[in-house]
Amino acid sequence: MAADLVISEGRLVAPAGTGDADAEPVDVVIEDGRIAAVVPAGESPAARRRLDASDAWVMPGFVDIQVHFRTPGATDSEDMASGAAGAAMGGVTACVIMPNTIPPIDTPEMVADVLALAAGVPCDIRTSAAITAGRTGERLADLPALYDAGVRVFTDDGDCVADNALMEAALAATVRLRGAVISQHAEDPAMVAGGVINAGAVAERLGVGGRPADAEISVVHRDIELARRTAGRYHVLHLSTAAAMGLVAQAKRDGVAVTAEVTPQHLVLTEDDVERLGTTGKMNPPLRLAADVEALRGGIVDGSLDAVATDHAPHHPSLKDQPLADAPPGMIGVETMASVVWSELVAAGQMSPARFVEVVSTAPARIAGIAHHGQPVRPGSPANVAVFDPTETWTVRAADLQSRSLNSPWAGRTLTGRVRHTVLWGSPVVVGSALSA
Ligand SMILES: [Zn+2]
Repeated sequence: MAADLVISEGRLVAPAGTGDADAEPVDVVIEDGRIAAVVPAGESPAARRRLDASDAWVMPGFVDIQVHFRTPGATDSEDMASGAAGAAMGGVTACVIMPNTIPPIDTPEMVADVLALAAGVPCDIRTSAAITAGRTGERLADLPALYDAGVRVFTDDGDCVADNALMEAALAATVRLRGAVISQHAEDPAMVAGGVINAGAVAERLGVGGRPADAEISVVHRDIELARRTAGRYHVLHLSTAAAMGLVAQAKRDGVAVTAEVTPQHLVLTEDDVERLGTTGKMNPPLRLAADVEALRGGIVDGSLDAVATDHAPHHPSLKDQPLADAPPGMIGVETMASVVWSELVAAGQMSPARFVEVVSTAPARIAGIAHHGQPVRPGSPANVAVFDPTETWTVRAADLQSRSLNSPWAGRTLTGRVRHTVLWGSPVVVGSALSA
């Protein structure tokens, strides 16, 4: 009997620590949505469909645990279909959407409604939920009920949970909710009030208010102490400063249950790029200094940081086409995540392919409690797979991306490495770097 699908002549990435694949090419045989066998290239059985993976890596599908798909409430900036299409093109087979929708995702009913809107899209969508009811920072949402509805990531992202007692109660609640995590947008609202970009030379030159590094450092410091005291699980969203990373690394050594993610943009761009990018270069937390970028790059390689997540934040061009102080913060990125990280770190010789798989797939799936993704490419694993060509170069054009918005900081940049195919539960959703019909 013919197999459903064979991904032929690709190479597997060996697990971190076992040395990077000597990689004789293999055929990956897929049946009933799962990997049925991995055999030497050319030895696979007949199949109803074959995808060519020659000269490419066959990796677990990528996982982006911080995206904003603007549904419901701002679907002229993005919707589930456009967001998921961009994810698929980027080799991302699972996403966690943020709850700062209109209305916010803070009840089991909202969770069900939002997931219903994501039915049938070419990426597995998980939703986070707000820590506080209505994301107002005043009282806790019903975290156990949301947990029972399947939520594992709790965050008021877009806003920081500033109140000490609320944050402590949220972290304490995760102790009884196995696998749940409190994810913080770590910027003290009092310290960033009126701030537009990083507090520094560029803000001064442009005559706009600044968002100081201390606003992040102080919240991460406080939250780590609360996580230590409660034994709750804590995750830092889009960490942006060297000093906050140092706090996270020390807390890990102390045995505190803390993880942190970094965005591609914080691994590459600095406040100086804001002058070139205009409002596209505005995000929260802001692009920082070259010394921060250098430290974060070291940290994502050495394990001080755990995962890459994009904070994919689409804004319709009419919103970004405003003065810097008025435009909403954020950049799109789910479609370009893997190529930017590969170009900047792996192709540049700073990161191994094995560590790449860890930070864009294995670790984010683990942090967000996403079963069935981030699994090794081996028999029995769900067939959620990205085939990644490490040498293909391509130039990003914002209008060619799937997003309904154009605010990509990578527009015009030529990247090395591109997703060739994406397979979701055994079905090819991207073939030959194009969406599958
Ligand atoms: Zn955020």
